Amino acid sequence: MHLSKLIAALFLALCFSACQTGPKKGEVTTIDASNIDNYCLLHDVSVTQDGLLLKNPSSSITSQFNIRNFELTAKLKTTPGAEGILVFAATDAASTADGYEIKINNSDYRVGNLQKTGSLARIRNNFVRTAVDDQWFTLGVNVEGNHIKVLVNDKTISEYDEPMNVVRANDISRRILSEGRIVIRRSNGTGEIMCGGITLKSLNDPKPDEACQISPDSLMKVVDQLNDQEFPLIDFHTHLKGGLTMDQAVKHAQFIGCNYGVAANCGLKFPVTNDSTLNAYYNAIKKEPVFKAMQCEGREWVTLFSPKVIAQFDYIFTDAMTWTDLKGRRMRLWIPEETFVDNEDRFMDMLVGKIEAELSKEPVDIHANPTFLPAKLAPDYDRLWTPERMDRVIKVLKENDVALEINARFKLPSITFIKRAREAGVKFSFGTNNGSNNDLGRLEYCLKAMKEAGITKNDMFIPRPSNDKKVMKSGLPAKITG
Ligand SMILES: [Zn+2]
Repeated sequence: MHLSKLIAALFLALCFSACQTGPKKGEVTTIDASNIDNYCLLHDVSVTQDGLLLKNPSSSITSQFNIRNFELTAKLKTTPGAEGILVFAATDAASTADGYEIKINNSDYRVGNLQKTGSLARIRNNFVRTAVDDQWFTLGVNVEGNHIKVLVNDKTISEYDEPMNVVRANDISRRILSEGRIVIRRSNGTGEIMCGGITLKSLNDPKPDEACQISPDSLMKVVDQLNDQEFPLIDFHTHLKGGLTMDQAVKHAQFIGCNYGVAANCGLKFPVTNDSTLNAYYNAIKKEPVFKAMQCEGREWVTLFSPKVIAQFDYIFTDAMTWTDLKGRRMRLWIPEETFVDNEDRFMDMLVGKIEAELSKEPVDIHANPTFLPAKLAPDYDRLWTPERMDRVIKVLKENDVALEINARFKLPSITFIKRAREAGVKFSFGTNNGSNNDLGRLEYCLKAMKEAGITKNDMFIPRPSNDKKVMKSGLPAKITG
């Protein structure tokens, strides 16, 4: 071989190995506009002062190396409407069936894809907005053994352990961990995504005995299936009560495979009782990866808070468990000493009338703890909730676009009621209404009702976008409703 040919061959071999060798194990590698060509292939990407601009529907950044275990952080910024994905474990970079996909989407609720940034798509979906357009945020993904963790701005959004011999739906048959490529690509044609850089640490393979071996139980199989169907599996009614912290609540939601909405109890004789305490509560939780909710207590709440402060929350809800009867007695239906039933039928008709007044006048999104009856009447639930009474409640829900909560703790409403409401086209939300730190459960009754009543993802409530809040459109009633 001629020397020149030998040198050329050596040069090519060197070049090839440099391109194929990814970040060294244990070292943190920073990849940005200055060295991107050493590590990645760019398709339809412009290099700008701010970083790598993914402007078109086909724009993508694909690693030239394969990697199995790693910690990655990408610095990203979206403009309104822009959607993209970060893919890992992609053995064939061109195939959409291949590898795990994390959503990049900071659009408002009911706008664009339901899944928002940090969603481990179809495996552990995230529906909570975790970042905003036009602001830099970090998207992190850690893979070690069979454990996957997705973070946005350092908050854990999705966590998942891939079970042994996992089988996926046909169209995502290779969404399975392997030594593969990392890809950032656009998934729609609106707006732009800017990538300001990536830091990557390649990790050693964990020893086989360190990998946790899990096999999902029957309830988790249902949850896995719902995630695959992109069903918005959200518990919209949880509370930080009985010592339960935000971190514990978020961890529990991720453990059971759903998203949480966390609500403060707001009203007369509650800790949150005016605009300043409501604002303080909102500011304390606004960065948390949960839906932010306000539970409006009693009927007096409409006189205690102003629309602008209320409208910061993702949604608001109330129940019909606190109201004043015709004799002027303020009742709390879950407290026997405060509940007066002089006549069953008159009580029931008064209750239905209170629900109608409340849901037609108070600008709430969800009717919580629905059809709850005082302990004295609860054994006769099926007899007292006559078809006529059910239909009056269903009508007011439908006319005022209020979602009906399926309550996991009280197992309410009955399956008969839920079926009737579904046929009428009412939207549903799932809610636990935990009373402490040990009764969060796993949405058992909601999942049972969903199956028995044939509820699909299109029947589910999603919070309104910020420009469509009921309280900003209709304001608050001048007088309390009941
Ligand atoms: Zn509650």
